[in-house]
Amino acid sequence: MIYPVYVYGSPVLRKKAKEIVQDYEGLNQLIDDMFMTMYEADGIGFAAPQIGKSVRLIVIDGTRVEDEDNQTLKDFKKVIINPEILEEEGEEWLFNEGCLSIPNIREDISRKPRIRLQYFDEKFNFHDEYFDGIKARVIQHELDHLNGILFVDKIPAIKKKLINGKLNDISKGKTEVSYKIIHPK
Ligand code: ZN
Repeated sequence: MIYPVYVYGSPVLRKKAKEIVQDYEGLNQLIDDMFMTMYEADGIGFAAPQIGKSVRLIVIDGTRVEDEDNQTLKDFKKVIINPEILEEEGEEWLFNEGCLSIPNIREDISRKPRIRLQYFDEKFNFHDEYFDGIKARVIQHELDHLNGILFVDKIPAIKKKLINGKLNDISKGKTEVSYKIIHPK
């Protein structure tokens, strides 16, 4: 099932999501639905709160990104459950981020380039891995969603002022999108 995507202003995007237990009912279906919804909206990373489920689950698929520069994403398809970033290292770098919950806005966001991540996969196998570059970036962005943080929270106040009108419009559903959304107003 393809879900509508909750957009900016929706309270669920501001909640700290709950951990998933191993016998969580309907987990496989939820994972399939999240991939489907993400593909429908042309995303490469997606977090459960974006379909209104406040649980610590992320899906990622960078394998369909065709950009020459993004060759490193060809093997980047993952289900990430109950993730925790243990370390973030390196000199912060800017990358132009977007979000399916904040359509038609992109901003350069500064983050560290390398992370150590502990998480469970869809079979509840435990992983402890390092990621860098764009992979780290996608994980950092999606993990923020599980803590109620959005990328626009990370831009300077002056810039934020400039996009406040647009954000307000998004929260009223006044934005052009090719996928189904749910807005709070
Ligand atoms: Zn996002």
